[in-house]
Amino acid sequence: MPLYEYSCDECGRTFEELRPSSEADATIDCPSCESRRTSRKLSSFASGASSSGSPKGGSGCGTRFT
Ligand SMILES: [Zn+2]
Repeated sequence: MPLYEYSCDECGRTFEELRPSSEADATIDCPSCESRRTSRKLSSFASGASSSGSPKGGSGCGTRFT
């Protein structure tokens, strides 16, 4: 299941979610303020991002909810 990144239009939080690709664009609630005004960002997979200062250290595969 691919990992998608979302940003909240209400509080500005970005968060990641593992979802089936069929639900990638489905509405998702913000984990912080529970707003549904969220938008999907481009997957960090496809961008081939350089891992400089990436919060994803490769250990564990869970989302970083705390
Ligand atoms: Zn929010």
